[in-house]
Amino acid sequence: MPHPITAALLTWYSAKARNLPWRDSKNPYFIWLSEVILQQTRVDQGLKYYHHFTETYPTVLHLAKASEDEVLRSWQGLGYYSRARNLHAAAQQIVSSHHGQFPTSYEAIRNLKGVGDYTAAAVASIAFSLPYPAVDGNVNRVISRLFCVDQDPLSTQGKARIKALSSELLSLERPGTFNQAMMELGATVCKPRNPLCDQCPVNMFCEAYRLRTTERYPVKKAKADSQTLRMLYIIPEDSEGFTYLRRRSEKGIWQGLYEFPLIHLPWPPPQSEPPPAELLQEHFPSLDGTILRISEEYTHLLSHRKLLIRFLQLKVETLNESPDFIQVALSDLNQFALPRAITRFLSEL
Ligand code: SF4
Repeated sequence: MPHPITAALLTWYSAKARNLPWRDSKNPYFIWLSEVILQQTRVDQGLKYYHHFTETYPTVLHLAKASEDEVLRSWQGLGYYSRARNLHAAAQQIVSSHHGQFPTSYEAIRNLKGVGDYTAAAVASIAFSLPYPAVDGNVNRVISRLFCVDQDPLSTQGKARIKALSSELLSLERPGTFNQAMMELGATVCKPRNPLCDQCPVNMFCEAYRLRTTERYPVKKAKADSQTLRMLYIIPEDSEGFTYLRRRSEKGIWQGLYEFPLIHLPWPPPQSEPPPAELLQEHFPSLDGTILRISEEYTHLLSHRKLLIRFLQLKVETLNESPDFIQVALSDLNQFALPRAITRFLSEL
């Protein structure tokens, strides 16, 4: 006996499925083409390309024999050109390794260039009725809501959970139809925003619907924003015009360059932050002086970091000897290799 969700879904799909050309086919090559074309592409846009490809390259041999340039031209306008290159390379792989016959096992399909778990499962189940659940973004959403899955579907645990639940629901008699029905439900009813729960064929089994928590699923892991750093540089100046510098020895940004005393501030900024004088006292108690100015916040972009930097200018009577810092005349700063973020500020002074 199929799971009641599976039974309800299959009944709904047979009545409501959109009529799409690849759905009439068991030809693995056409199914594969449709799956690759529809990745990151809307169905209405993909249709035109599907017709063009199946007419221009009616068999995998035709695709393999075409030049890469021709295939790329056919792909023009669809974007993500690596998909076209992979498609072409995989067609040649089918010719060289499978005598031009589309492979019939999940593993062999999965081994084709550019084919991931999802596409392999979709082709294997639809073309060959092999029992593999095809899990894409639509399925992640439907399963997350049906079972209130509390893990991010993209996390290792979330992936395993969703795969286990989809395998439990998978129809062993009609795995291809089941996979298409799940995707169809996600695309047309269980939409990312404002799912049409009232029209959903499985709403009586849906936990998120029962608890009125559909908008919470699928769960998204809060991204730790480790890319943004907040920094406060202290520029002390004694009565003789000297300041402190230190050489950054730690690995990471600006290794080997010189910088002023630095206080790292938390990101995101806390609700209330101690005033600068307190921060100074906490981090550099020996720097006892008068705060002259605190700069505006400078944004400095590195390849994968964003730095938010302020500079605090401090007048001190004397600079004590320090094992961490060297004393440098402010007028000699240009003799030291300083990060661009610092020289930019100095040049504006
Ligand atoms: S009841 Fe709503 S949330 Fe649940 S599966 Fe159906 S459309 Fe999605």
